[in-house]
Amino acid sequence: MEFNSLRLTGFKSFVDSTELSIEPGLTGVIGPNGCGKSNLLEALRWVMGATSAKSLRGSGMEDVIFSGTDARPSREHAEVKLVIANDDRTAPARFNENTIIEVVRRIVRGAGSTYKVNGEEVRAKDVQLLFADAGTGANSPALVRQGQISELINAKPENRRRVLEEAAGVSGLRARRHESELRLKAAESNLDRLQDVIDELE
Ligand code: ATP
Repeated sequence: MEFNSLRLTGFKSFVDSTELSIEPGLTGVIGPNGCGKSNLLEALRWVMGATSAKSLRGSGMEDVIFSGTDARPSREHAEVKLVIANDDRTAPARFNENTIIEVVRRIVRGAGSTYKVNGEEVRAKDVQLLFADAGTGANSPALVRQGQISELINAKPENRRRVLEEAAGVSGLRARRHESELRLKAAESNLDRLQDVIDELE
């Protein structure tokens, strides 16, 4: 799975629709202070399902929407589209039919976020798992922001372990285990309720 392009519309300082192609290999973003380098990286994190406003340098999720300048009014929505090449067919089965996968996240003021994969509306969790299974995601150590190396050196062992798990590609399995445990609990409680009904009938 390789990232092909990223399109930002109304996301932070990118008020006009801006599309970037992502070439294979290591990508560095350079430019003068305040030109939007970190905003680009945040757009990538956001479209992969980032849920913490703090990690996107905001106090609320709607802070990612263009908030206006002296010259331009604020926007009511923001959208980021990430196009991924799936030539190696490593996406989860339900998204694996196509060689190109388009992931779109959109936020509207007062209405929250929605996600689409190849035009089909999906849950945040589906998008997070799509990337986690490919060994990447909003918290991937492959996305290196300013100050992250020193943070890692000073991190607690369990946080450092998470970085290693991401790199080893097992974080998707951890998320799936958690989901399975929740389902198992729900099934157990349904069985208990069923037993109550059977006991009443007997
Ligand atoms: P540096 O090199 O100083 O770290 P940078 O290139 O990483 O800077 P960013 O931090 O990505 O720059 O962008 C900062 C700019 O984005 C600021 O001008 C800020 O006002 C603008 N900005 C951030 N959020 C929004 C928003 N919601 N609406 C409009 N502009 C925003």
